[in-house]
Amino acid sequence: MVGDAFQIGLAATGACTHEVRMEGSEIRPAPTGRPKSDGEAGAVGPEIAVLVVEDDPAYGCLIRAQLMSGDAALLVRVEEDFEQALALLCSGRFQVATIDHQLGSNTGLELIELARERGVEIPLVLLTGSDDPNIEREAVEGGASDFLAKSEATARLLARTVRFNVQRHAASAALAQREQQARHRALHDPLTGLPNRAMLDEEVANALNRLHAEAGSGFSLLYMDLDGFKPINDQRGHAVGDAVLVEVAQRLRGSVRAADCVSRVGGDEFVILLAQCAHEVDANRIGDAIQTAVEVPIDLGEESLRVGLSIGINVVTDADASPADLLSAADAAMYSRKQERKDGVGIGLVRTNAKSREVSLDGRLRGALQAGLVVPHFQPIVTAASSDVVGFEALARWTDDELGQISPAQFIPAALRTGLIVELGRQMLLGACGWASRIPGKSLVSVSVNVSADHVRSPMFDTHVREALSVSGLDPRRLQLELTEQVEWEHDETIDARLGALRDDGVCLVLDDFGTGYSTAEVLARFPVTAVKLSRGLLVGAQASPRRECMYGGLVALGRRMGASVTAEGIETAEDQAFVQRAGATHIQGFMFGRPMAAPDVLTKAA
Ligand code: C2E
Ligand code: MG
Ligand code: MG
Repeated sequence: MVGDAFQIGLAATGACTHEVRMEGSEIRPAPTGRPKSDGEAGAVGPEIAVLVVEDDPAYGCLIRAQLMSGDAALLVRVEEDFEQALALLCSGRFQVATIDHQLGSNTGLELIELARERGVEIPLVLLTGSDDPNIEREAVEGGASDFLAKSEATARLLARTVRFNVQRHAASAALAQREQQARHRALHDPLTGLPNRAMLDEEVANALNRLHAEAGSGFSLLYMDLDGFKPINDQRGHAVGDAVLVEVAQRLRGSVRAADCVSRVGGDEFVILLAQCAHEVDANRIGDAIQTAVEVPIDLGEESLRVGLSIGINVVTDADASPADLLSAADAAMYSRKQERKDGVGIGLVRTNAKSREVSLDGRLRGALQAGLVVPHFQPIVTAASSDVVGFEALARWTDDELGQISPAQFIPAALRTGLIVELGRQMLLGACGWASRIPGKSLVSVSVNVSADHVRSPMFDTHVREALSVSGLDPRRLQLELTEQVEWEHDETIDARLGALRDDGVCLVLDDFGTGYSTAEVLARFPVTAVKLSRGLLVGAQASPRRECMYGGLVALGRRMGASVTAEGIETAEDQAFVQRAGATHIQGFMFGRPMAAPDVLTKAA
């Protein structure tokens, strides 16, 4: 069995007598390695970590010796145990594996299938001693990348097969990435990163299709043009003009929900498609908020500039129009609004000494994720009846060297816009599960991690959840995934299957922001959730209006009727607590019981 440091001697092959050290994830041949002659190892490329799964220890040793003599840069670990091999394959530490066809009472094909199910993408090469002609076909169908008969497996062929598979895998991953980047470039504006006109047209066409399918729904188009942008660009130069456009783009994105499409369609023209906004009063209210956000002076270090915004709104409730006509109507409404607006908004120049400040959050967020600066803080969740702590919600926190603390309300939209939400979600899962697994003496305390629909849709989601569980060793029943309803969980079989499988493994699903987003009842019916959460916004509303109070109670009852527990969020005072207890909430979360805290603080309190 492979240990932390061990000695192998394989006199029979004469191929290896050397020590292999394993420290953490590293697998290194000791410097005393075997001689390298011209006739032996081929050209040495970059190091490759190879896992050899072989239940016969002597044969495992032989393969390792062959691999290492065939290619000096192969770092090899042998694993005999089936479950352990599966965990290692999922660990992300290896770039390739060879797997014996017979593994005690299991088969190598079973291992390959399980690994593929868990999202393992590295090349898996099946080694077999059998000459059954069907094995080759079964191997490929079962997810093997390559196949080698043991009788033919010379040192050279083994090593070459391993390296070739790794290179081919890397090449196809690079190709897929290039294709994705090309598609992204074709549909996005390079300056602001927002969708361009082509993508907007697609989104409008999709919205029309949805409207066609569900009469009574609708959406709004906001056509926007900056007032006073041209003089800024002409007088202060294009770099300043670009910085203003980037800042405006960010403010627009930050003013609407993730499901809304914010696009740049011309020099200083933007269009927002507000999904699910079929009423003029809602569209006007959102338009007012956007205008206010954009017209706040833009801080550009030495100076701050002000631009105005004219908006034309087209509320679309009829599916029979063409996207081009709908956009022209919104454009025309914008133009007439601009003519009316003679209030001198344009360029206002204010000199300040403010420290130069990076305009875009996107680049900073990428750097912050690479540096591990986005970390989970933890807020307790207690039972409504006895205030016992039963879990914690992990909330992302980011402190930037220059900008200080940045709120999730700002960086989650940036993460969604840039696709960084996938990496952010991965890090939150790893951080939260790792932390929860270390809570001393609180084995039943759960940890809730917020996951966005974009992350769940990405093919890596499953791997990320399972990686977080396997690395931390956390019992899946202690992990809860909070799905936020602010974004649209459009019907998607992959998502449903993925979440269903995790649920089957014991992971709990929670519906966040219950009752505030899209088609509450529909989402509740689709996902087998164990809990729903009601936001503070709903609570504040309920305390101010009898109709909303009724609604709050109704949502609690609906959640409970569906067999879910109901967590009331945002409990700040004893009155809040009494109110949600009367409404029937089963769990409570809020500043009254604890603010989100850095991990060590919570650990001390929970211990
Ligand atoms: P959420 O998941 O609904 O989280 C609850 C929010 O309510 C948190 O805000 C929390 O700090 C705040 N809160 C808790 N108790 C009280 C209270 O008593 N009074 C008030 N006024 N607020 C309270 P936070 O941390 O700013 O997060 C905002 C939202 O950002 C979250 O809403 C969630 O949707 C999103 N978010 C946070 N972390 C992550 C993450 O790791 N991934 C994803 N995808 N989204 C996240
Ligand atoms: Mg949440
Ligand atoms: Mg919530």
